[in-house]
Amino acid sequence: MSPMRFLCDAMLGGLAKWLQAAGYDTYYASQGTDVSDRYLTQKALDEGRTLLTGDGGFLERKPVRDGQVAFLQVPHCPVEEQLRMVVESFRLVRRVSRCMECNGELQTVPPGAVTDRVPDGVAGAHEEFFLCGGCDRVFWRGSHWDRIRGRLERTFG
Ligand SMILES: [Zn+2]
Repeated sequence: MSPMRFLCDAMLGGLAKWLQAAGYDTYYASQGTDVSDRYLTQKALDEGRTLLTGDGGFLERKPVRDGQVAFLQVPHCPVEEQLRMVVESFRLVRRVSRCMECNGELQTVPPGAVTDRVPDGVAGAHEEFFLCGGCDRVFWRGSHWDRIRGRLERTFG
């Protein structure tokens, strides 16, 4: 069975990033994109995404009402609690992280492949680098990643 995919409404950008870090393909309705309930419901339906939303407005849309689009209303609370709620509701397990900038898939690359793209000293200090297939950014497991991993470990156990 392929992993669940999600769609977060405009109120849940923080949650979207954490689901991406946990390895789930998550579309986020950000500024500059169509954030209407109609558009997002149709997108969730077309792409088989579970709709995560901060309000109940989506319940008025037919595909949600009819159960064609899976739906979870997420309350206003710290993002760590929101993430835990989603994880428990759908019994998610941690997967290989996706890009928290663009939701792209990350590919592992050796240090030599990115030497000229990372700050001095970084290439020699890390064994593994990750290249995003979506936005072409390079990532490595520095202190920022340690904080992310710490939170994911607390949530997923
Ligand atoms: Zn990316």
